[in-house]
Amino acid sequence: MALLGHITSWEGKRTYIFRGREILTDQGGDAADAGAVASLDSLILQTCEDPACGSIGVMLDPAACAPEGYAFTAVPAYFFAHNDEENARAARMIGLARWLDANRFCSRCGQPLQLHGSESALACPACGSLYFPRIEPCIITLISRGDEILLLRNVRDRAGIYACLAGFVEIGETLEQALRREVLEETGLEVENIRYAGSQGWPFPDQLMIAFYADWKSGEIRIQESEIADARWFRRDALPPLPKPGSIAWRLINRRFNNH
Ligand SMILES: [Zn+2]
Repeated sequence: MALLGHITSWEGKRTYIFRGREILTDQGGDAADAGAVASLDSLILQTCEDPACGSIGVMLDPAACAPEGYAFTAVPAYFFAHNDEENARAARMIGLARWLDANRFCSRCGQPLQLHGSESALACPACGSLYFPRIEPCIITLISRGDEILLLRNVRDRAGIYACLAGFVEIGETLEQALRREVLEETGLEVENIRYAGSQGWPFPDQLMIAFYADWKSGEIRIQESEIADARWFRRDALPPLPKPGSIAWRLINRRFNNH
C-alpha cells in the first residue's frame, strides 16, 4: 500500500498526532482530530498516510505544546484505555511516523530516501536500496507449574508490577528457541509444551509481541540479576500487582485463570 509523505486531504480520515512516545488526545481521551494541529504547522516533523486504514500519522517536534483543550498522553496509557482495533491503528501510525522521521537517508550511499510508490517502504533513487519499517519480534510467555504461574519483576520496574517473561528474538532463531533461551537465561528453568497464544504490536519502540503458554519442565528459579529483580511462582488467590488490561501480559494471565 502506498504511503503519502505529504497529505493531500485530511477530510474523513482518522488522525494520530504524536510527540515522541506521546499521543495528542482530546478531552474525552480519544485521539485528537486534524484541527488540533492547525496551530502547530511549523512543528510538524513528519506526516504519513495509510490508505488501508484511512489514517494519518503526524510526528511533532519535541518542543510542541498541546493546543488548548488537548493534552499529550503516554501511548501505553492510551492503549490501556482503548480496544484492540483502535490500538492496532494507533500502533501502526506511530510506528510509521517515527520510522519515516528516523530514516531519511540511504545507509548504503547517503542519498535522501523517497517513499516507494506501491509498498510501505522507502526507496533510494540512486542505488535502488529498499527500506521497510522495522519490526522487532519479541516473545512473551506465561509459564505454569501445576496451578501456579511464574511472574517476574523487571529491574527497571518502579511500581512493584510482576509480569510475564519476555525477550527479543535473536537473528536466525525460531520463536520456540528464543523462548527456551530467554527462560533459561532469566530464570534458570527449562520449559516444555509451548503453545501459541496470540500477538500484539507494541511500538515501544518497534516490537511485535508474540505470546505463548509453556509448562515448567525442570529447574529451580535462579534469576539473571542484571534483568530480573524477582521471580516467583504465584497461585491464583495470591497474585501480586499485575500489568494493566490492554497489555498482552494481562491477557495471558487472565485467560490462564478463566478458561485455560
Ligand atoms: Zn542508496
